[in-house]
Amino acid sequence: MGDNIFLKIIRKEIPADIVYEDEEILAFYDIHPIAPVHILVVPKKPIESIATMDDEDAAVVGRMFLVARDIARDLNISEKGYKLLIRVGKDGGQEVPHLHLHLLGGARLMEGIRPISN
Ligand code: 5GP
Repeated sequence: MGDNIFLKIIRKEIPADIVYEDEEILAFYDIHPIAPVHILVVPKKPIESIATMDDEDAAVVGRMFLVARDIARDLNISEKGYKLLIRVGKDGGQEVPHLHLHLLGGARLMEGIRPISN
C-alpha cells in the first residue's frame, strides 16, 4: 500500500489539529470542513477502505465509532445529533485511500453533503 496524507499525519510528518489519539486511532479536524464540527477519525493501521479491510480489522473499525461518539459528547453535539460518514472507493467519493470516519455536526445537516459531479 502506498503512502498518503493521513499516514503522514499519523507519523506527525505534517501537522493536523488533533483532538484524540491512542495507540491505534487518531482523530483530527478536517482541513476543509463542510460542517461547523468536521472531524476525521482514522485507524493508525494502513487500512485502505471498508471494501478492502480484513475481518480482523473489525475491532478497530468498531472503536472508531466509539471514539466519534466520545468526541461528539465532549464537543456537546451529542444531544442535538450528528452525522457519521464513511466514503468507499471512487463511486463513494473517497479521495484519501486510508479509511476515515467523518464526524459532522454543529448544525442541521442537509441530506446531500456534496453536489453530484462527474
Ligand atoms: P473523503 O472525500 O476521502 O471521504 O475525505 C477526505 C477528507 O480529507 C476531505 O474532507 C478533506 O478535506 C480531508 N483532507 C484532505 N487532506 C487533508 C489534510 O492534509 N489535512 C486534513 N486535516 N484533512 C485533509
